[in-house]
Amino acid sequence: MDRLHGNSQRVCVLCNGHDENHDHLFFGCSFSSSIWLDISSRAQIVWQAGNWSQAWQDIAVRCSNKHNPRHRLVGLALASSIYHIWKERNKRIFDQHFSNSQKIRDDIVNSVCGKLGGLGVGNMVPSSFLQRWTV
Ligand SMILES: [Zn+2]
Repeated sequence: MDRLHGNSQRVCVLCNGHDENHDHLFFGCSFSSSIWLDISSRAQIVWQAGNWSQAWQDIAVRCSNKHNPRHRLVGLALASSIYHIWKERNKRIFDQHFSNSQKIRDDIVNSVCGKLGGLGVGNMVPSSFLQRWTV
């Protein structure tokens, strides 16, 4: 099992209910899961059962066309989600600063919307798809 802290064992600071490892932190955790559920729905991502590295490989293969706006959006959504979940985890550990999952979700959505505009692909993604990306 992969540990994030060498031999030391840490309880997940997001839910305080499980040992922390990558699988748990990004997928098994109840805190992260509530975020994934919302973001996956907005990005229309269907996850295959399995461990997180397997799930990522699956998505990477299915959304590897950088010229496809929808694939770009899925990539942004995943990267932004990982970034914000990890950032929240670190803020809790190092700053004792806690945000709720709604705040993290809003940050992810705002980040994805901002980056879509910056990439100039926003107008290439169908509007029905973009409508899901409002806070
Ligand atoms: Zn947890």
